[in-house]
Amino acid sequence: MEFLFDCGWCGTENVVFAARGGFWNNRFYLDDFDCWWCGGNCDTPAGPWTPAE
Ligand SMILES: [Zn+2]
Repeated sequence: MEFLFDCGWCGTENVVFAARGGFWNNRFYLDDFDCWWCGGNCDTPAGPWTPAE
């Protein structure tokens, strides 16, 4: 599943894939991502995350 995150460095919106997992398969795991625009490495916020349409 993909989620929307704003880059913490430049504010550009990123669509990032997060793997599904956990006992009920209802958790998503994503520690950080690299911004496609500026290349900055960003930690994902605690949530809730915004699903990408
Ligand atoms: Zn950026």
